[in-house]
Amino acid sequence: MSRYVYDFVEGDKDLKDLLGGKGANLAEMTRMGLPVPPGFTITTEACREYLRTGSTPAGLFAEVELHLRAVQTRTGKSLGDPDDPLLLSVRSGGRFSMPGMMETILDIGLNDASVAGLARQSADERFAWDSYRRLIQMFGKTAFDIPGEDFETELANARDAAGAATDADLTAAQLRDLVHAYKKVFQAHTGRDFPQAPHEQLFLAVTAVFKSWNAERAVLYRRQERIPQDLGTAVNVMAMVFGNRGTDSGTGVAFTRDPATGRRGVYGDYLSNAQGEDVVAGIRNTVGLGELATIDPASYRRLLSIMERLEGRYRDLCDIEFTIENGKLWMLQTRVGKRTPAAAFVIAAQLVDEGTITLDEALRRVTGEQLAQLMFPSFDQAAAPEPLTTGVAASPGAAVGAVVFDSAAAVAATGPVILVRRETNPDDLPGMIAAQGILTSRGGKTSHAAVVARGMGKTCVCGAEQLEIAADSVTVNGRVLRAGDVISVDGTTGRVYAGAVPVHPSAVVRYFEGELTAHGDPLLAAVERLMIHAGHVARLGVHANADTAADAARARRFGATGVGLCRTEHMFLGERRVLIERLILGDQDALSDLLPLQRADFERLFAAMDGLPVTVRLIDPPLHEFLPPLEELTARVARAEALGEDPGHEGTLLTAVRRMHEQNPMLGLRGVRLGLVIPGLFAMQVRAIAQAAAARVAAGGDPRPEIMVPLVGAVQELDTVRTEAESVLAGVAGAPPIRIGTMIEVPRAALTAGQIAGSAEFFSFGTNDLTQMTWGFSRDDVEGAFFGRYLSLGIFAASPFETIDIDGVGELVRIAVERGRATRPNLTVGVCGEHGGDPASVRFFHTAGLDYVSCSPFRVPIARLEAGRASV
Ligand code: PEP
Ligand code: MG
Repeated sequence: MSRYVYDFVEGDKDLKDLLGGKGANLAEMTRMGLPVPPGFTITTEACREYLRTGSTPAGLFAEVELHLRAVQTRTGKSLGDPDDPLLLSVRSGGRFSMPGMMETILDIGLNDASVAGLARQSADERFAWDSYRRLIQMFGKTAFDIPGEDFETELANARDAAGAATDADLTAAQLRDLVHAYKKVFQAHTGRDFPQAPHEQLFLAVTAVFKSWNAERAVLYRRQERIPQDLGTAVNVMAMVFGNRGTDSGTGVAFTRDPATGRRGVYGDYLSNAQGEDVVAGIRNTVGLGELATIDPASYRRLLSIMERLEGRYRDLCDIEFTIENGKLWMLQTRVGKRTPAAAFVIAAQLVDEGTITLDEALRRVTGEQLAQLMFPSFDQAAAPEPLTTGVAASPGAAVGAVVFDSAAAVAATGPVILVRRETNPDDLPGMIAAQGILTSRGGKTSHAAVVARGMGKTCVCGAEQLEIAADSVTVNGRVLRAGDVISVDGTTGRVYAGAVPVHPSAVVRYFEGELTAHGDPLLAAVERLMIHAGHVARLGVHANADTAADAARARRFGATGVGLCRTEHMFLGERRVLIERLILGDQDALSDLLPLQRADFERLFAAMDGLPVTVRLIDPPLHEFLPPLEELTARVARAEALGEDPGHEGTLLTAVRRMHEQNPMLGLRGVRLGLVIPGLFAMQVRAIAQAAAARVAAGGDPRPEIMVPLVGAVQELDTVRTEAESVLAGVAGAPPIRIGTMIEVPRAALTAGQIAGSAEFFSFGTNDLTQMTWGFSRDDVEGAFFGRYLSLGIFAASPFETIDIDGVGELVRIAVERGRATRPNLTVGVCGEHGGDPASVRFFHTAGLDYVSCSPFRVPIARLEAGRASV
């Protein structure tokens, strides 16, 4: 027969799955001999059984009775005793903490008879009646779903009738009348009397806690926090102790280190003559824990020694809830405490210094997400006004600037600007680079604006649907903003504010940039130490996606050991676009005009990355992305023709745009296909790379370029490009050896990786396209369209464009690595899609046996940390 109940003396801290976090820790403290009120825990298994069948498991309450007897023996009191009643608290407590999401019922065991006993024992009639009315209220709400307002109304009536300003001003007699009124509310809603039998109260309370697992807010919370929905909660039943029994009583919370900064010391709050709920309700102001030293020195000393023992046991920051009842200290809860990202780093390093944990363990205790949080500038929340609106938090950070509505205005601006667009496209790139932040009214986390902004480490809020964006104004909830008006955009929360909210720059970024040293700063010293250790243990290398020398130089300062992806199309923007136009119109001279420009770009890039590999990808996107949009051009030509004018160049261009127009450009003439269709295009790029490398060698440098061919699906494509590239390379004197490899972005490439590796000296997974083509999701459109629904249905827990889909796309990665290396054992394999900087994905790439991940410069430190963590 299953066993569903464990006395606190029976469990320990490792039984969290069964007893929940709170129950396991209460058991641990009991085991350690700390003063925990007697009690027991009903297991999560009992709750799961209840959720599955709709009724409590057979034998559960008989078991509860047995354990209750033990509690009665230990306290010397019994439930329902009219002279000196035992009172119980019933609290939820799952495997993962879900603060305030589920139910708690206090004072179980009070009824018309025992309330008198409590009054006598406590010598406080008012306290007894107040406890009784609280029980009816809490119990009615949670076990019988009686609307809370119905009780609140009675309470307000009682205050009015008594002329009392607060609940605390109600007398014992008035509270007794209130109990009477509450019982009527109870009877009216349930058709029965408030249960007088304490055991029935207990069983109903336990069932109510089981049920609260599926309360709407709890389900929502778990979905957001990615906590599985099927774990169930444990229920902790404990003898009540009271912090509101006079000035020698009180309640408080304590932390063994400062959860905000990690600093050692005594942190917490204390409220004398109060219960825990009073602290939460904020009715009276708490005092700093240090003051307890004066209020009750003996309890304070005892508390400090308990805190030290708890830290020793958990080898980490603990937080504690305690109550003092008539001078006796009781521990009501402890757990490894939540902390800010900064405190996580500082505490991990401190514990190493104190000899408590190893560096490997310290590395396990911090995360890439925490480091990411530390790298964003942030708004001073205390100084922030009400937000104008809230959109999708697409790329974190805090940006303040004047509103501009187009890319050209952003580029022309002299001060900081926020680029406000319905959505962005590749044309907006110069403006996005120039702006402090980007705000759009359409699109989700994988929209163009979001992906590009994240890549640049630029703040972005997208999909702020309340914005009505016109050519020169934006209206939000009736308020009109014009170009030049200052706004603040919080990419971490999605909030948008009018005016300039004060910003704190990130010290961690300034440290990586070399502007600050770690000396004397506990946070920076901790970051430095853990990053160094991550570097020692990591097997995965970390490269950067960088298209310019400036980005590459920053990536290098941030610790990148190569460029894993240089997207050469980004070198064709701005004034160079006309050269692409000429090329499309069949002007071969355009290529010779492009050559020196490309060569100069590469020379700068190779110089910035001297001595490190630079993987240059040949042009990838469909060329019409560099031409004016079809509709716009059609309209302009039609207008000219209507006026009887000759559309001239635009007419010719329109013919070309029409010829190149595709229904599905992402599946069309792009990547390697461009190289095979447009004569001379790839050859020009290869020549520019080789010449730039030769020039760097001549200047005494150590350039290490590699050539990467995008969107290959068949080895024959790569063979054709390789033959041409090799003959170009052979014709450039003085260049170092240059390897030729391919991206794996098309499922067919992954499946035929064995053949492709015959022609490729390296692979780099383009997981953006590979995800797009494996799922058949358009990476530019899906988010707004249906990802929200997919996430809420649990089809995936996170967008597969952000975190690698291990089962599907990941399987293709595994297959390609295996087949590629079977053909060419020394094949270098990396990844350069967005996933290269995502902590969970980095872990997967480590396991899949990749050599490196490549990500945007700002995510390089995060990937380095995660590469280390994957190894310990
Ligand atoms: C990819 O597809 O993952 C990739 C890196 O290429 P791009 O994002 O430029 O298509
Ligand atoms: Mg791609």
